[in-house]
Amino acid sequence: MGKHINYRNGEWADKLWNFRESEFLDDPDDDIHFQLANKAENAAMRQESYDSYIDSDYWSKVRLKALAFVNCKCQKCGSGSKLQVHHKYYCQRYTELENMHLLEVLCDDCHKSEHS
Ligand SMILES: [Zn+2]
Ligand SMILES: [Zn+2]
Repeated sequence: MGKHINYRNGEWADKLWNFRESEFLDDPDDDIHFQLANKAENAAMRQESYDSYIDSDYWSKVRLKALAFVNCKCQKCGSGSKLQVHHKYYCQRYTELENMHLLEVLCDDCHKSEHS
Protein backbone atom coordinates (compact mmCIF):
# COMPACT_ATOMS: atom_id res chain seq x y z
CA MET A 1 0.00 0.00 0.00
CA GLY A 2 0.96 3.58 -0.67
CA LYS A 3 4.13 2.68 -2.54
CA HIS A 4 4.16 5.72 -4.79
CA ILE A 5 2.64 8.22 -2.44
CA ASN A 6 4.82 11.15 -1.47
CA TYR A 7 3.24 13.08 1.36
CA ARG A 8 5.70 15.93 1.09
CA ASN A 9 4.52 17.23 -2.26
CA GLY A 10 0.96 17.36 -0.97
CA GLU A 11 -0.51 16.00 -4.22
CA TRP A 12 -2.13 13.04 -2.56
CA ALA A 13 -3.66 15.26 0.10
CA ASP A 14 -4.99 17.65 -2.58
CA LYS A 15 -6.61 14.77 -4.41
CA LEU A 16 -8.29 13.65 -1.25
CA TRP A 17 -9.44 17.12 -0.30
CA ASN A 18 -11.11 17.34 -3.71
CA PHE A 19 -12.73 13.98 -3.27
CA ARG A 20 -16.50 14.01 -3.47
CA GLU A 21 -18.37 11.59 -1.28
CA SER A 22 -20.90 10.86 -4.01
CA GLU A 23 -18.21 9.23 -6.15
CA PHE A 24 -17.87 6.52 -3.55
CA LEU A 25 -21.52 5.60 -3.44
CA ASP A 26 -22.81 2.80 -5.63
CA ASP A 27 -25.71 4.95 -6.70
CA PRO A 28 -25.57 8.61 -5.64
CA ASP A 29 -29.32 8.97 -6.07
CA ASP A 30 -30.03 6.13 -3.70
CA ASP A 31 -30.58 6.88 -0.03
CA ILE A 32 -27.20 7.06 1.68
CA HIS A 33 -28.49 5.51 4.90
CA PHE A 34 -29.89 2.57 3.02
CA GLN A 35 -26.55 2.00 1.30
CA LEU A 36 -24.60 2.32 4.52
CA ALA A 37 -26.91 -0.10 6.32
CA ASN A 38 -26.40 -2.57 3.49
CA LYS A 39 -22.65 -2.28 3.69
CA ALA A 40 -22.67 -2.69 7.46
CA GLU A 41 -24.84 -5.76 7.14
CA ASN A 42 -22.48 -7.27 4.57
CA ALA A 43 -19.56 -6.57 6.85
CA ALA A 44 -21.27 -8.20 9.81
CA MET A 45 -21.91 -11.27 7.68
CA ARG A 46 -18.22 -11.55 6.92
CA GLN A 47 -17.56 -11.93 10.63
CA GLU A 48 -13.96 -10.93 10.32
CA SER A 49 -11.88 -10.41 13.37
CA TYR A 50 -11.04 -6.80 14.15
CA ASP A 51 -7.36 -7.54 13.53
CA SER A 52 -7.95 -8.87 10.04
CA TYR A 53 -10.13 -5.84 9.31
CA ILE A 54 -7.29 -3.53 10.36
CA ASP A 55 -5.02 -5.47 7.98
CA SER A 56 -7.47 -5.16 5.08
CA ASP A 57 -6.98 -3.11 1.92
CA TYR A 58 -10.12 -1.19 2.78
CA TRP A 59 -8.75 -0.09 6.13
CA SER A 60 -5.38 0.88 4.64
CA LYS A 61 -7.27 3.18 2.25
CA VAL A 62 -9.22 4.66 5.14
CA ARG A 63 -6.04 5.15 7.10
CA LEU A 64 -4.19 6.90 4.24
CA LYS A 65 -7.13 9.14 3.55
CA ALA A 66 -7.53 10.07 7.22
CA LEU A 67 -3.81 10.83 7.56
CA ALA A 68 -3.82 12.95 4.40
CA PHE A 69 -6.87 14.87 5.64
CA VAL A 70 -5.00 16.01 8.73
CA ASN A 71 -1.59 16.41 7.03
CA CYS A 72 -0.19 13.55 9.11
CA LYS A 73 -0.63 15.34 12.43
CA CYS A 74 -2.37 14.28 15.62
CA GLN A 75 -5.68 16.15 15.81
CA LYS A 76 -5.27 16.69 19.54
CA CYS A 77 -1.65 17.73 20.02
CA GLY A 78 -0.19 18.13 16.50
CA SER A 79 2.46 15.45 16.93
CA GLY A 80 3.47 13.58 13.79
CA SER A 81 4.70 10.39 15.41
CA LYS A 82 3.02 7.01 15.82
CA LEU A 83 -0.27 8.15 14.35
CA GLN A 84 -3.31 5.93 14.68
CA VAL A 85 -6.79 6.24 13.31
CA HIS A 86 -9.37 6.19 16.07
CA HIS A 87 -13.11 5.59 15.77
CA LYS A 88 -14.75 8.50 17.55
CA TYR A 89 -18.09 6.77 18.00
CA TYR A 90 -18.03 3.12 17.00
CA CYS A 91 -16.48 0.97 14.35
CA GLN A 92 -18.94 0.38 11.55
CA ARG A 93 -16.84 -1.61 9.16
CA TYR A 94 -16.63 -0.73 5.46
CA THR A 95 -18.42 2.56 5.95
CA GLU A 96 -15.49 4.72 7.02
CA LEU A 97 -14.54 6.02 3.55
CA GLU A 98 -17.95 7.68 3.30
CA ASN A 99 -17.89 8.76 6.93
CA MET A 100 -14.53 10.29 7.65
CA HIS A 101 -16.09 12.51 10.31
CA LEU A 102 -16.46 9.38 12.46
CA LEU A 103 -12.69 9.08 12.63
CA GLU A 104 -9.95 10.94 14.43
CA VAL A 105 -6.21 10.78 13.81
CA LEU A 106 -4.35 10.60 17.10
CA CYS A 107 -0.77 9.99 18.18
CA ASP A 108 -0.09 7.01 20.38
CA ASP A 109 -0.21 9.06 23.61
CA CYS A 110 -3.45 10.90 22.79
CA HIS A 111 -5.00 7.66 21.56
CA LYS A 112 -4.20 5.93 24.83
CA SER A 113 -5.69 8.76 26.89
CA GLU A 114 -8.79 8.68 24.67
CA HIS A 115 -9.36 5.05 25.66
CA SER A 116 -8.49 5.37 29.35
ZN1 LIG B 1 -1.39 13.63 20.17
ZN1 LIG C 1 -9.28 4.34 19.35
